[in-house]
Amino acid sequence: MSQVVDTKKIPCLDLKGQHQQVKAEIFEAFERVYENTAFSGGPFVEEFEKAFAAYCGTKYAVGLSNGTVALQLAMQVLGIGAGDEVIIPANTFIASAWGPSHVGATPVFIDCEADTWEIDPAKIEAAITPNTKAVIGVHLYGQPFNIEAVQAICKKHNLFLVEDAAQAQGAKYNGQNIGGFGDIACFSFYPGKNLGACGEAGGITTNNEEYYKHLQSLRNHGSVVRYYHDEIGYNFRMGGLEGASLSIKLKYLDSWNNRRRDIASMYHKGITNPKIKMQSQPAFADPIYHIFVVTTDEKEAFVKHLADNNIVAAFHYPIPCHLQKAYTHLNYKIGDMPNSEYLAAHCVSLPMYAELSNDDVNTVISVVNSF
Ligand SMILES: *Cc1c(COP(=O)(O)O)cnc(C)c1O
Repeated sequence: MSQVVDTKKIPCLDLKGQHQQVKAEIFEAFERVYENTAFSGGPFVEEFEKAFAAYCGTKYAVGLSNGTVALQLAMQVLGIGAGDEVIIPANTFIASAWGPSHVGATPVFIDCEADTWEIDPAKIEAAITPNTKAVIGVHLYGQPFNIEAVQAICKKHNLFLVEDAAQAQGAKYNGQNIGGFGDIACFSFYPGKNLGACGEAGGITTNNEEYYKHLQSLRNHGSVVRYYHDEIGYNFRMGGLEGASLSIKLKYLDSWNNRRRDIASMYHKGITNPKIKMQSQPAFADPIYHIFVVTTDEKEAFVKHLADNNIVAAFHYPIPCHLQKAYTHLNYKIGDMPNSEYLAAHCVSLPMYAELSNDDVNTVISVVNSF
């Protein structure tokens, strides 16, 4: 089979195109932040919080400094701490597990499904102990997990459900934007996410007023009235420049996500190589394709073939959480989570971002098929 050889490299992710498109608008907003010296929290963050809560269909959104502290604060307002256990899929970015760890709780990892690669609801009950307080479901790669199945188990065992929505801003579950299905949803607005700030940022959505008020206090030194500190708090505020950039980018999020959906659909239809497997997608899920992962038994040869044809691949994620050195003390071993371990050893992420041209997508498809 003839190969399409292009001299220019196709990167896995390139943020330049998107930022060129919104540069004038964002610089104009930065000017307003500057004139108001509203650099930490303040009106530009509040404006984004209102818009993002409306977008997610929740009563409240709280802007924070990143997605990792969002997970930590979610644990804290749910009353989770030392001695408690939180169930988490082993196939996720490690930050999903930092939340419980940072409040002194223990992450309990379970395997993902063999076909959707998302948390396997059938594996939750066996992991529940008298110390289990919550399940963190991750909408991994931008695809919603089986929320109804996980919710039913949480309800039956009186557990909190936290959505790790860091990769899924605008993904829909049965037609509704994610972010309001759990007790709390945690978002990252890291620059590389589908909705990414010009800087580090994160946030939480919830319908619970008590959590909302508590989060506002915790992120701001445990203080509601200035210099009165009702509890030990943090400085986890979102910056004004980040908030302003997010309000502008939120207006474009659906169109950027839809372009990613079109690219994914080209990949789904175009990639016919039997050596390549893609993530299966249940009818309830309308993903936003934060990352487009495929697997192959011949990963090394495939990555070399992509590189020889100027396609830059990435790996999400090469070591499952339960086998990370940071969690050696939990005594997991190879073989505990076969699906997550298979994925880690065989996953390859193809180029995915809204500004990819159809020509580039077709080039990727041809190169993948010629492997
Ligand atoms: C990015 C990410 C986080 C952490 O967000 P940061 O803003 O980088 O701290 C948490 N969970 C998942 C699944 C992520 O992809």
